[in-house]
Amino acid sequence: MTKATKQFQTEVKQLLDLVIHSLYSNRDIFLRELISNASDAIDKVRFEAHSNETILEGNSDWKIKIIPNKDAGTLTIRDNGIGMNMAEVEENIGTIARSGTKAFMQTLKDQAASDNPELIGQFGVGFYASFMVADKVTLYTRTAGSMEAGCCWESSGDGSYTIEECSREQRGTEITLHLKEEFKEYLDEWKIRSIVKKYSDYIQYPVVMDIIRSEVPKGVDGKEIEGAGTIETTKEETLNSMKAIWARAKSDVSEEEYNEFYKHISHDFEAPFRTIHFSAEGTSEFKALIYLPAKKPFDMFMADRKKGLQLYVKRVFITDKCEELIPDYLRFVKGVVDSSDLPLNVSREVLQEDVQVKRIQKGLVSKILTTLSEVKDKSFDEYVKFWKEFGQVIKEGIHFDFANKEKLQELVLFESTSTEAGSFVSLKEYVARMPEPQKEIYFITGNSRDALEQSPHLEVFRAKGFEVLFLTDPVDEWVVQALTEYDGKSLKAVDRGDISIDTEEEKKEKEKKREEAQKEFSDLISFLSDRLKDKVKEVRFSNRLTDSACCLVAEEYGMNANMERIMKALNQPVPESKRVLELNPDHAILKAMAAIHTQDKAAPVLADYADLLYDQAILTEGSPIKDPLRFTRLVSELMVKAAGK
Ligand code: ADP
Repeated sequence: MTKATKQFQTEVKQLLDLVIHSLYSNRDIFLRELISNASDAIDKVRFEAHSNETILEGNSDWKIKIIPNKDAGTLTIRDNGIGMNMAEVEENIGTIARSGTKAFMQTLKDQAASDNPELIGQFGVGFYASFMVADKVTLYTRTAGSMEAGCCWESSGDGSYTIEECSREQRGTEITLHLKEEFKEYLDEWKIRSIVKKYSDYIQYPVVMDIIRSEVPKGVDGKEIEGAGTIETTKEETLNSMKAIWARAKSDVSEEEYNEFYKHISHDFEAPFRTIHFSAEGTSEFKALIYLPAKKPFDMFMADRKKGLQLYVKRVFITDKCEELIPDYLRFVKGVVDSSDLPLNVSREVLQEDVQVKRIQKGLVSKILTTLSEVKDKSFDEYVKFWKEFGQVIKEGIHFDFANKEKLQELVLFESTSTEAGSFVSLKEYVARMPEPQKEIYFITGNSRDALEQSPHLEVFRAKGFEVLFLTDPVDEWVVQALTEYDGKSLKAVDRGDISIDTEEEKKEKEKKREEAQKEFSDLISFLSDRLKDKVKEVRFSNRLTDSACCLVAEEYGMNANMERIMKALNQPVPESKRVLELNPDHAILKAMAAIHTQDKAAPVLADYADLLYDQAILTEGSPIKDPLRFTRLVSELMVKAAGK
């Protein structure tokens, strides 16, 4: 095949541009990224070799070699890993095969990426980091076990690349960076040594380099031969210690090492929020080094994001995304598990069913939840920061992880009528500060705190000084289906059912008032019920309103406005469900309407008022009204009338 010139996918171009211009304060990491890729590639070929040894081609002297060439101004990184065929090179290097990339790029632009290198880091810039220091990158590669032609790829990072077949004896990948003039320092031995030591020390395979020394030759007696001048000797030296970090004792690992390892496995640029390193013994033996990130990844809610932990069996790499190790609601957790119990040739299917894997998962979840609970108790402010990033996902656990419900319900936080925006209360704290007469835990669901603050449903709770939790994440509707009780107190939606938060005395008084109103306005109520019969299930007087004229209430198990909105957003069919229109018996509008009704039962204005009342209730619950044109026309007419024109 001849050489073909191709264009990068648009997103790759944008990413290249961002990387080159935003990560300059952190240039050294290009080498870490290339070494990480090389190490992953060796992991992969070793794993494949479990089932097919021929792909090793007799070459299992694992190493990653760094070759600086001062004369040519190039730095080469060579591995004997899995390699790539032509199609894989195009797919891996020319495109970003993940959905949501476009949206992500936009976020980066909007947030001035240069101030947020960690955002780009999240994406895993990997290979592209090379273009920070090189004006041309050449990649030679050949797939393990396949003698089909190798492939040569080259680009100047300016929007296009060339690709062609080329013969290559050695398996694996070799990447040559043609360094920009100002970055020739990356050819210096000390510079390379220090970067490898700092970022890639724990890499499991030797990262080697030929070290050339000039020395005076020695005689048989071991002494330097006088007058012999100097000779150059070349020795391949290993630059990293290769210690699997999770296999070391906790006391032997520095925070910096933990953090660097985290960055290696997560591609995150920021240090993790918490590091959890432990060994389990007994029914299940494993070592785990897991990390809770500090920032949520941009693709946390996307279906195709990489999930899972790295799995090793007795220090041998098995897979880099074992989803079975961690439940979905902790999908943001990163790390490594090294099991002593699983067989080396463990397959996907086995992993899904294996009891050992289930035991490991149980152990990990328990450790993570305990860690979070400690952070919450000891440094609440820090916990809140974490909760803002990941709370939405953790809450899914309440619905799905019944076994850990007790622990999870202690971890959830909510905003409420008693917290400032952005501050939170736990259920424990809520219950502790409930005033004496309050018997239940109240909440309201909706899509924003601002909208909920206005809700007429809160009026009576405000009047009584009862705190109401604001549940504003879509997942909250499912949370409250599973979390119906806490500490013996039921959780109640303020916009559902016929709530009774009053004392016996207040109840009697309100009931009396309601009956009186029912009697006084009975004609009007029947008129309204008839007029709105297609829209509401019932019209009745309310005991939850103090200021507003009306509100809509879902039945105890009916669908509320928020749930309807969520279902619509998810493109789910929304069953027709009518709510109850509740009226405030003390509101002047009722008296006014009743007066008109008594005079003339057929007054056309009554029908308009009825519709306006209903639309008001719709608006205050944050839903769109069906006919905004008619609504505005009616209001305008009223304004004209009120102005006496
Ligand atoms: P990431 O490492 O985050 O996936 P990169 O841009 O660094 O992103 O690499 C993209 C893909 O290219 C890798 O996932 C891998 O499949 C492939 N790749 C990169 N470097 C190598 C290598 N040295 N050997 C084999 N495959 C590689």
